[in-house]
Amino acid sequence: MTLTTDPVVCRRKEEVRRYLGERRRQGQRIGVVPTMGALHEGHVALARALRQHCDFLAMWIFVNPTQFNDPVDYERYPRTLQRDCKVAGEAGVELIFAPEVEEIYPAGLDAYRPGLSVRVRAGDRSLRYEGEHRPGHFDGVIHVCTVMFNILQPDVVAFGEKDFQQVSVIRQLLVDLSLPIELITVPIVRGEGGLALSSRNKLLHDEGPATAIWHSLQHACARAEGGETSVQTLATEVSQRLLAAGLRPEYVAIVDPDTLQPLERLAGEARLLVAAFADNNVRLIDNIAIRGRVIEA
Ligand code: AMP
Repeated sequence: MTLTTDPVVCRRKEEVRRYLGERRRQGQRIGVVPTMGALHEGHVALARALRQHCDFLAMWIFVNPTQFNDPVDYERYPRTLQRDCKVAGEAGVELIFAPEVEEIYPAGLDAYRPGLSVRVRAGDRSLRYEGEHRPGHFDGVIHVCTVMFNILQPDVVAFGEKDFQQVSVIRQLLVDLSLPIELITVPIVRGEGGLALSSRNKLLHDEGPATAIWHSLQHACARAEGGETSVQTLATEVSQRLLAAGLRPEYVAIVDPDTLQPLERLAGEARLLVAAFADNNVRLIDNIAIRGRVIEA
């Protein structure tokens, strides 16, 4: 265990188990913020929110190879552990678990292929949208979350609405495997131009065009409030706005916020989900709550 001023950084699972085990024996309620590091105000918001729900606040920082379907994306994902420790400490995080890949995949990554090692797979909420365009992504997410939950044994965890489908997939994991973990969710934190904060924003040469994502989401909300109920019309308008700003939309979907099933017509609560490529081939996702006007009979 390396003692920095604040927080404590554990690289090995035995260390972190010992440390958190001691806290648990003292009757403390453990909160954990899962992250891949390169921390920004979105992660800080998760830590601040979770602090209200626990006695001891921990964070994991792990760029999980098995959730990357694109090796280039994995290689160039920003890694800034030293700076992250400072940011996390200022947000009230008392312990960071930052393992090496071998610590989490002891049999080696090759053994992770289907049929070799024991694996946890994502449920049906993972099949569309992100899951369709990033094959294997949610299986990797669910697997690493299960392993980390086993190591850290949190009482409560925080996830961001920025990854709206991920929240739904994790919720299903907790229910289907009867994991005794409370989940809290935190709204999306945005930058000045409305761009949702993301570690990948660091890879953009210019954030300007990417703010079209936020503007197109707001446009769709306004059109829905104005009475437009056709999902196809709304999705087309969002795509057109993204293309006009030089972005390459991958999907635009309007879905039931609970089941994530695609909708055809808006009536009541829905969620608009978007993925688009911006400059430097950086893939960004965003979403917004959208409400169809409910026509009284
Ligand atoms: P990541 O490090 O990108 O895997 O994200 C770790 C957690 O932070 C996930 O639960 C994300 O949904 C959340 N998160 C990332 N960006 C934001 C944001 N802009 N606002 C709120 N939560 C976020």
